[in-house]
Amino acid sequence: MHFAPDTIESLDAAVALCNTAAAASRSRTEELADVDALLALLDRFRYSGRRDRDEPERLEVLATRARLRALWRLTRDDAAAEVNTMLADARAMPFLIRHDGYDWHLHATSLDAPLAERIRVETAMALLDVIRDDEWERLRECAAPDCDGVFTDFSRNGSKRFCSVRCGNRVNQVLFRERGRG
Ligand SMILES: [Zn+2]
Ligand SMILES: [Zn+2]
Repeated sequence: MHFAPDTIESLDAAVALCNTAAAASRSRTEELADVDALLALLDRFRYSGRRDRDEPERLEVLATRARLRALWRLTRDDAAAEVNTMLADARAMPFLIRHDGYDWHLHATSLDAPLAERIRVETAMALLDVIRDDEWERLRECAAPDCDGVFTDFSRNGSKRFCSVRCGNRVNQVLFRERGRG
């Protein structure tokens, strides 16, 4: 499995966004509860382009997050259809761009398109690589029973089961305790 660096970066950003939902977040609360929290996430992933910094933008991002979380659970064939829909709805058109100190890379929507739309297009552009490379099964849900987290398994042997070390440790501790009891 080999993805371009910008594909990996987009997948990481999409996973981080998905895992801000209460059922997936570390705090078990909504992590994008206000505009400032959204801006902090954008800064963390050095997200370029338009930011309205208002409540409608935040709500649009939350709706897009729900759509991405659902996408993670689709079969490869259904995901291909959804990726095509996201690209078509945004009238995505790939082009090379150099901005903010980044050398030539791929964009498919203008920097002043709405934030949520750019997130959908950027994620769709990354997912089409995953689908073409037939690596869809690398997109997984956390195996911890109390966690709705998602992740992308970039490991060599593809055996990752948890969204975080924390979830892995928690589940292993429970198994260990049950074994001790039995
Ligand atoms: Zn860019
Ligand atoms: Zn988890």
